[in-house]
This record gives sequence, C-alpha cells and structure tokens, in this order.
Amino acid sequence: MGLLHSAGGQLTPNAEDAEILVVNTCSFIDSAKQESVNTILEMARHKQSHGGRAQRLIVAGCLVERYRDEIRKNIPEVDAVVGTGELEAILAAAGLVPKPVPATGSPFNIFPQGSSPSSQSLAARAQSSVRQHSHPEADSAQLAIEQNALAQPTVASRPEGDLRQQQGRFSRDAWDGTTAALPEYLYSDETPRILATPRASAYIKIAEGCDHPCSFCIIPQLRGKFRSRRLSSIVAEAEKLIAQGVREITLIGQDTTCYGEDLGLTDGLAQLLEALAVLPNLRWLRFLYTYPNKVTTRLLETMARHDNIARYLDVPLQHASASVLKRMKRGGNAKIFLELIEKARRIVPGIVIRTSFIVGFPGETEEDYKELESFIRAARIDWLGVFTYSDEEGAKAFELDTALKVPERTIQARRRKLMKLQQKISAKAKAEWVGREIDLLVEGESEETELLWEGRTLQHAPEIDGKVFINDFGPHEELVPGTFYRAEITESHDYDVVARIIE
Ligand code: SF4
Repeated sequence: MGLLHSAGGQLTPNAEDAEILVVNTCSFIDSAKQESVNTILEMARHKQSHGGRAQRLIVAGCLVERYRDEIRKNIPEVDAVVGTGELEAILAAAGLVPKPVPATGSPFNIFPQGSSPSSQSLAARAQSSVRQHSHPEADSAQLAIEQNALAQPTVASRPEGDLRQQQGRFSRDAWDGTTAALPEYLYSDETPRILATPRASAYIKIAEGCDHPCSFCIIPQLRGKFRSRRLSSIVAEAEKLIAQGVREITLIGQDTTCYGEDLGLTDGLAQLLEALAVLPNLRWLRFLYTYPNKVTTRLLETMARHDNIARYLDVPLQHASASVLKRMKRGGNAKIFLELIEKARRIVPGIVIRTSFIVGFPGETEEDYKELESFIRAARIDWLGVFTYSDEEGAKAFELDTALKVPERTIQARRRKLMKLQQKISAKAKAEWVGREIDLLVEGESEETELLWEGRTLQHAPEIDGKVFINDFGPHEELVPGTFYRAEITESHDYDVVARIIE
C-alpha cells in the first residue's frame, strides 16, 4: 500500500471506486486458498461489470508463489501477479512509476480511512482460480515484474537453512505453475508503508521466511529461507512509527526467536528488544511466534527487565505427545514444554502464555490425544487455540500413509473437547483478574454492541486474545480511541473481562 501510495495511487477500501484492484492472497491451507480464489473471481466479475472503471486486476501474495502460471492462464481478467518476493513489482503491475521519497519526509502514512475516490484508486482485498486463455497485457506487465525480481540482491542465510535447502525442504519441483526461485525480498525502514492498524498500534516484521522442517507446513516453500532485517533498520522504523503516534509495537516473523542468526547475532531477539525498549514514548512492546526450543534464559530475563515489554509469551507448541511431535518434525514433549512454561513463569512473574495446538495429525492415537489433554490441564495456559489438521499437498505429512489419517469426525470431536476444557481453565483464571487495576489501551466502540467499548491490556495481543469490555467511563464523558487509561476489572467471563475506567 505504501509503495502504491508513494507512486501517486490513492487508496480506497471500496472496489466500486477503484481503477486498480489488488487481491492479496493466502495459500497456507485449503480453506484460505478457497477464500482467495473466491475473492479473485468476485473481483474479476466486478472488473467486467462496473462500466469499465476498474481497469486492472492484480493478484499478490502466497497463492502466486504456489500457482503463478495457473492464475495467469486460467483467469484472463487478471492483468498481473506479484509474488511475496516481488513487492516492489507492484508498481509495474499497477502501471505506476516510483517517485523518490523526499529526504525530509517520512515514508510512513496512516491509512486514509474512507479516502475519496480519485484517478488512481486502489482496492486492497484478500485472496485464486482456473479457466483457459492467455492475456497479452498481463504478459507485458509480468515481464517487467520478472525483470525486477531478478534485480533483488542476494541475502544472508542460516547454516540450518542451507542444510535444509540441500535436503530439499524448499523445493517446489512438484508444484505445477510456479517458479523454482524462492522469494528473497525484505522490506526496510526506507520502504514506504501505510498503516492499516489503529493509530496507536503497529506491527513490525523483523524477519521473513522459515528454515524449520515442520511436516504439516508449506510456508517455507511459499516464503523462502529465513532472513532477518538489519537491527538498525528495525530501530529506525520503530522510531518513525513512534514519531507518528504509535505507542504499541508488535514484532512478528514466521519465527521471531531465530532473529539475527543469519546476521551472526547471538540472542538476536533479546538484543533487538533491548534496543527498542529504551525508545522514548514506546509504551508497549511485544513479540509473537516464538519457537519452543529457542526461548532462551536471556530472552526471558530481557522481558523481566523492562516494564514496557509485555509479559507475554506466544509459543505455538502444536502438540504435547512426543511421537506426534516427532512425526511433525518439531521435537519436544510434554515434560520439556512444562519445564519451559515453569521457567518462563519463574523468571517473568505474571507472564501470560499463548499457544496453539493441532489435533488430528496423521497417526494421532487416542493415547496421544489424552496426553495432550493432560498437558493442557497441567499447563494452565492463558490463551489457547486448537486447530484441526489440514492435509496440504506439498507438505511432508501429506505423503504419510493414508491409513494413518485420522477421520474428520474424530478430529472435530477432539477439538471440541479441548476447547471445552480450556473454557473452564480460562474462566477460572479470568475470575482472578477481578479487582486488578490495569493500564488499558482503549480501541473504540465494541463490535458486538454499541452499549460497550473495548480495549486491551498489555496481556492482550491485538486481534487474537479475549476482550476487555468497558461499561463505565468513570470520570470521563467520552473516551478517545488509541489512548491509555487506568481501569479496574470488575467482572469476568470465560475469556473476556469487564472493566471500569478510573483515571
Ligand atoms: S515454524 Fe511455523 S512457519 Fe516454520 S515450518 Fe514450522 S509451522 Fe511452518
């Protein structure tokens, strides 16, 4: 969005107003692919039927990495495709010319909510498909994109990633309609950016790609080998965001705990957190998506040392049975994971833990499932998600013996049982929050009812955790979204709590 805006495009969330339609896609699991295809087809129909206002349809993102040629061959309304490693090629695809960023100007902008339509409008949406013709205009835009992609500089890598590459982890040979070259792109603090999140909060992607061998996952083939952004570039980006009013920064990447290993840093994430935590006016700093065996003592101690670093550990464990974890190619077991959680709670008192599990992985027996259930009982995790296994062509687990595949009904039943168990654990833990005084970042009127407002504490990551509903504004006539208030928790529910503003 930043690149398009900086080249003179104006953004609109309304497809009706746009001359250029951009569908940003996901290709992680089948349901995401289907949603992507549906949206592309919807935009293709829109392009055909709205009196010629929409002149270009661009498909971007992971679906392009998986089905590049298929999309171009089978949906003639698509004018260009842009993979995850070709971000800057979006300009050629849109027919826009890059403009130099003024030396004194910030490349950052807040998303112009409800911006008016103009000559170069653009609708950014999420998601692919299949019919049969070719398209000359798409071919010329595509040529420019491919030339641009070739111009990308090569990047450093981790020895583990290099080894896995030799072993074929990143191979896309079996995928029809894709390119062999893996994405290498990394954005920097100089890349123009538009924030689509509420003004006080921003995500910063600190690394891209993943070197892990998890057998259920095709993200490494889609996003390439793990590569970190320069520490100085991340700090510079954070400074610019703070100067613009951002007060909460969330660091993300496919695995944030590998940060810096390709740059020769040891405990790179801890070093990065140290550098960011001291930035003036940064109220809240958090990181998501850690890898269990990479959560180090130094990382935990860094969290404990700084008040503005969230006492919050997001560590997807995926399972607790050693045999399932082994087939998932992740390693670990219930004992190791319980020790990790105990250590985190000891070094960082009050820490909240978020994790997610996959049920129904091929070969998961009733015994494996029971082990997971006991683990959840013992670990008392604060925020927990349970996903059902999705069999993905291209992932190693897809090739496992079909006799090992767990029936869909069993998978769904296991998920329901775990969620029920977690509901009880969560309700009990949330009841202990009642009476606590908290810092609350007010986000605005509740999506569920206009009678309540919503906010988050440092223990709630944006979008994924339970909610804090506000039913009493205390001394205030009204609240200002994006502002911090003191509040007291007055009621608790299974996952959510209710708060009263006190200051
Ligand atoms: S660590 Fe995450 S992104 Fe990487 S292979 Fe495993 S599940 Fe996929």
